Amino acid sequence: MKQNTRLIQAGRGKQWIGQAVNPPVVRASTITFDTMAELAHASQHKGERVPYYGRRGTSTHFAFQEAICELEGGAGCALYPCGAAAVSGSLLAFLQQGDHLLMVDSVYEPTRALCEKVLRPMGVETQYYDPMLGADIERLIRPNTKVIFLESPGSITMEVQDVPAICRIARANGIVTILDNTWASPILCRPFALGVDVSIQAATKYIVGHSDVMLGTASANASHWPQLREHSYLLGYCASADDVYQASRGLRTLGVRLAQHQQNALQVAEWLAQRPEVETVRHPAFASTPGHAFFQRDFAGSNGLFSFVLKQGGAKAVAAFVEGMQYFKMGFSWGGYESLISPTLNVQKLRTASEWPYQGPLIRLHIGLEDPADLIADLELAFQRYQASL
Ligand SMILES: *Cc1c(COP(=O)(O)O)cnc(C)c1O
Repeated sequence: MKQNTRLIQAGRGKQWIGQAVNPPVVRASTITFDTMAELAHASQHKGERVPYYGRRGTSTHFAFQEAICELEGGAGCALYPCGAAAVSGSLLAFLQQGDHLLMVDSVYEPTRALCEKVLRPMGVETQYYDPMLGADIERLIRPNTKVIFLESPGSITMEVQDVPAICRIARANGIVTILDNTWASPILCRPFALGVDVSIQAATKYIVGHSDVMLGTASANASHWPQLREHSYLLGYCASADDVYQASRGLRTLGVRLAQHQQNALQVAEWLAQRPEVETVRHPAFASTPGHAFFQRDFAGSNGLFSFVLKQGGAKAVAAFVEGMQYFKMGFSWGGYESLISPTLNVQKLRTASEWPYQGPLIRLHIGLEDPADLIADLELAFQRYQASL
């Protein structure tokens, strides 16, 4: 089955959809049973594809979980109220007091804050590592290292990691690997084929695709699924059937949306790379981005999210650039149909284990489904405002 066909088929078995096209929204806290035998059967299945209690999900959830497993290649999938909860739920499932966590230095900033403000006071020590470290990560492993966390490409700066090399070292040392796979969505890379144990999606982004629902997923391979499932359940993570329905719906158009995001973003990124004001473009499909060769090896394509670095300018010049855009809105998150712009004045401040090689400010773009000619015209005016403010 080819990928666009799988996106249509996944999680749409007769047992989930009946005679409709989409799975119905089944909202439930209590699930009721007629006999002791039915109750025992449900409890044995731990809520996997058999209703047990609302927190374990209903058929709406089971259909979506099945679809994510099929797309990412995992053995099971836990659902969370947002991507950040999928990150905390995955880390808390495999870490205890006294453990050592290796965390990629280019990680999504709230994940770093979780390590410092929640995990460290609980007695879990986080050590950050250079995103380009690869197999040399072996040097950092200690007897109490329990988890290596990866995010590829990195948030904002887009370094692509050598995921298979790190996973090989981790597995040889009995260490769990957790990959924040949000940039790739479930279709641009196959995390379990690369060797990861747990793959996280902020479904909020491309899976939902319309900037109106928060949802997270974490899938695991067969050996790590029981622990991830049980710990996430005990911590009380769950998601509403209505939100999961929207995410299921988003999957059906994910392939065509991403193809268009990719095409539009490449056009804008190529235009930016020619601008004299631009120091570099950080886009995994560009040779200027560290780990580009790993991107070519491990990914099936790119999406709408990338960054570029300006040669110069402080807060005033950056404000002149990002304020007054016609189509790009300023705000967090990404993955919807609309274009977004987000400035970072000091990238080095966000990292502790690697050197950021540029002085100028960074601007991250999410390229939406507008016509790229309009987006380029919008950016052209931004460069004029920026030039005038220098
Ligand atoms: C957005 C994002 C998250 C958090 O997802 P939310 O649904 O906003 O909580 C986690 N990781 C990455 C890489 C993200 O981009």
